[in-house]
Amino acid sequence: NKLEKIQPEVNIGVIGHVDHGKTTLVQALTGTWTMRHSEEIKRGMTIKLGYADGEVWECEGCEFPENYTPEPVCECSPNLKPKLIRRISYVDAPGHEILMATMLSGAALIDGAILVIAANEAAPQPQTLEHFLALDILGIRNLVIVQNKIDVVSTERAKESYNEIRKFISNTWAEKAPIIPVSSLKRVNIDALLAAIEKYIPTPKKDYNKDPLMFVVRSFDVNKPGTKPEDLVGGVLGGSIIQGKFKIGDEIEISPGTQISENKYEPISTEITSLRFGKYEVEEAKPGGLVAIGTKLDPSLTKSDNLVGNIIGKPGSIPPAINELEFEYHLFKNVVGSKEEIKVEPLMKNEILMLAVGTSLTIGTINSISKEAVSVKLKRPVVAWKGLRVAMSRRIAGRWRLIGWGLINN
Ligand code: GDP
Ligand code: MG
Repeated sequence: NKLEKIQPEVNIGVIGHVDHGKTTLVQALTGTWTMRHSEEIKRGMTIKLGYADGEVWECEGCEFPENYTPEPVCECSPNLKPKLIRRISYVDAPGHEILMATMLSGAALIDGAILVIAANEAAPQPQTLEHFLALDILGIRNLVIVQNKIDVVSTERAKESYNEIRKFISNTWAEKAPIIPVSSLKRVNIDALLAAIEKYIPTPKKDYNKDPLMFVVRSFDVNKPGTKPEDLVGGVLGGSIIQGKFKIGDEIEISPGTQISENKYEPISTEITSLRFGKYEVEEAKPGGLVAIGTKLDPSLTKSDNLVGNIIGKPGSIPPAINELEFEYHLFKNVVGSKEEIKVEPLMKNEILMLAVGTSLTIGTINSISKEAVSVKLKRPVVAWKGLRVAMSRRIAGRWRLIGWGLINN
């Protein structure tokens, strides 16, 4: 099946503290550079989630783990013909602390994670911990830890760093996660990393028969300035399919859609005109990777990520968009992501929170609280359903800090 070969079947988030080597690792695994946006290059970090598709090839006849390679070339014997095992979509999440919200919205789309920890710094650094906790919140349990930059440390420091990492994960759900020493820059031990990915981050079972739903993570106007009106192409929506399949010609609805008055949003209807994974055009798309959906929409609607956080589905089959979100909540003991220890104070009526629900980020005011549940009046409606997780941040000293998480129960 051609589709199966082209479409990535699993999404892996690459997370960890800033400068620990996430982007470099994604390059080593894919041969591409995820920093695509000029603004990102200016600021020297990955602002928007960057997706890059990579491959895992197996050389039957080479010894383990050299039998795994990201390229269709067999190191142990150039005469062997490698076999394509999987295509993987790597999501390069930002490490900078102000961007935790982006990390959380991306995490809603990942099936597993690679936590990158640099061997030349003490572990855990603040965002190492923060991202690790985010995995817990989002219920992501398929984890491989990369001990990176082993090329710049002594054997002694490498051992010490390894023990710090072991200690960090001991007595947590991740206690048994593999720790793979790697140099992303020098591409050392990438084969062993691929072997661990194959073993610990399997392709999830997705339901292709359900009504299709997709989270929008990017939205664009792909027309160059000055394009003649007759040559304009419709708005493009990028995201990950959660369930079901979409194909060219499908009628779709986008919800909550566009704002028509202060607190009223209206779903948008259109038709799928094209489907793409990176450079490949396909007829049909299912869960896995980042798909770009071409539509008949006016590109001004989709430009500059305008529709991020929306849900795409078949008309009439998207769960309702709600203005007040009720969920069961759990507060952390301490505020996550700061160097100092700050206790998380109880929630208060009328306080303002930032919530990440799927790929949607919204500000809201607490309307009512009980010991277990909270109800938040949202500034922008979100499409939500039972079982979806919510990350809660509170503004502390001018920054949104992760203070807890929730689960939608009805
Ligand atoms: P990110 O912020 O986690 O995405 O980190 P980057 O991938 O941008 O890497 C930060 C810096 O560390 C860059 O200068 C990289 O070249 C460097 N770096 C990343 N991985 C390695 C490695 O394995 N060894 C060495 N020596 N440097 C690395
Ligand atoms: Mg980066």
